Amino acid sequence: MNDYDVERMTEVLRRDGFERTEVVEEADMIVVNTCSIREKAENKAASAAGRYQKLKERNPNLLVAIGGCVAQQEGEALLKRIPSADLTFGPDQIPNLAAHYEKLRPQVQTESWPQTSPKANRYRLRLAQTEVIDVEDYQFLDADPRPSDVSVTALVTIQKGCDNFCAYCIVPRTRGREVSRPADQVVREVARFVELGAREVTLIGQNVNAYHAIGMPDGEDFAELLRLVDSVPGLLRLRFTTSHPHYFTHKVADAFRDLRTLQPWLHLPVQAGSTKVLAAMAREYSREAYLDKIAYLRTVCPDISLSTDIIVGYPGETASDFEQTMQLLSEVEYDSIYSFAYSRRPGTPAVELPDDVSAEEKSRRLTALQSLQKQITAKRLARLVGRTEQILIEGRSRANPSQICGRTGGNHTVNIEVPDGVDVDALIGTLVPVSITAAKVHTLVGTLGNDSLG
Ligand code: SF4
Repeated sequence: MNDYDVERMTEVLRRDGFERTEVVEEADMIVVNTCSIREKAENKAASAAGRYQKLKERNPNLLVAIGGCVAQQEGEALLKRIPSADLTFGPDQIPNLAAHYEKLRPQVQTESWPQTSPKANRYRLRLAQTEVIDVEDYQFLDADPRPSDVSVTALVTIQKGCDNFCAYCIVPRTRGREVSRPADQVVREVARFVELGAREVTLIGQNVNAYHAIGMPDGEDFAELLRLVDSVPGLLRLRFTTSHPHYFTHKVADAFRDLRTLQPWLHLPVQAGSTKVLAAMAREYSREAYLDKIAYLRTVCPDISLSTDIIVGYPGETASDFEQTMQLLSEVEYDSIYSFAYSRRPGTPAVELPDDVSAEEKSRRLTALQSLQKQITAKRLARLVGRTEQILIEGRSRANPSQICGRTGGNHTVNIEVPDGVDVDALIGTLVPVSITAAKVHTLVGTLGNDSLG
């Protein structure tokens, strides 16, 4: 979601005459996008913004803007905490970014003292723009990429905000109530990306399964949206994220079997393997209900790859609760997981709960979980060795530019040796058969099949 926001900020500013620069010293405005889901990410963004103080001393016209969820949550307080910041703005204010810049710019130019002195901080205009737009009035920004910026894969938003209130999560408070984007806009944007060269689209939202903009019975709108997007000519692959297990219906599971483009990969955050902990998290499903959904999914799409999010050390999580999470991992056999030790996030309901699992114990549980997952991932990757997989080639491999890379339908990255004389550029954006020859820790290695060499 943050990558998506950065793209829209770039486009909005470009429309108003800005150009992106890789040279930070040349910038008229630096925008720092923040995430408040984890404490570490929040601190990282705050310290990045703080580092720009020196640049401002050299360039009095430079503006520093802080966007994203931390800015939404803290607004004025963040301005106080980071003296170099001129503007804090929430996600709903992205369309107004250039207008906010204009309001601030004349003020900066007339100041004759260094902006970061205490005197300047007292007098210079600084803005906290955190107004959340009402659900009825919210307008989605259409993506407006330059053709040269469009890659093989694209993100298309279908939703903003979230109506759930998971106890540990700040998103509903920073991104507001859920709004679903009209289906015709979604389909049009997917078609536009495909026209510009994208071949894989990922539909994104905080809880895509709760999408409701078509007017069908509960839980059916998202399945219908998938069907509409699947019919976009030229689209080769479709994915979506993030799902909430409570809203994940059989109809959506069936789409993995029935749709031409929907790839066999699902990120279905479970968060914990104990029903008691799930209830404390206000997740609205039990361990059993989650496992039933996975079981059904595997009957309709046996080869599906799964990933998930796990929080360890949530308030009240006992050793036996944690053991249930470990067992769930072994039972489901995810291809990959994102795992975190619980940290209190200000503004969330969970902050009221006693943080009663010690830091040492959280760290022990996280290490145990990750080491179990390492074995499971190795097993899941090893099953692909010896198979020929259809890989959508995305470009040259970052680690080794003599190789190309792409992903399997199950979302595993494959680095591929290219024989001399093969036109790599002609392969980018195409689906090619690749023989998987080896598995590394998180990725696969392959060679081009004879069919792909022409
Ligand atoms: S569904 Fe996701 S975004 Fe919404 S409150 Fe729960 S964790 Fe946060």
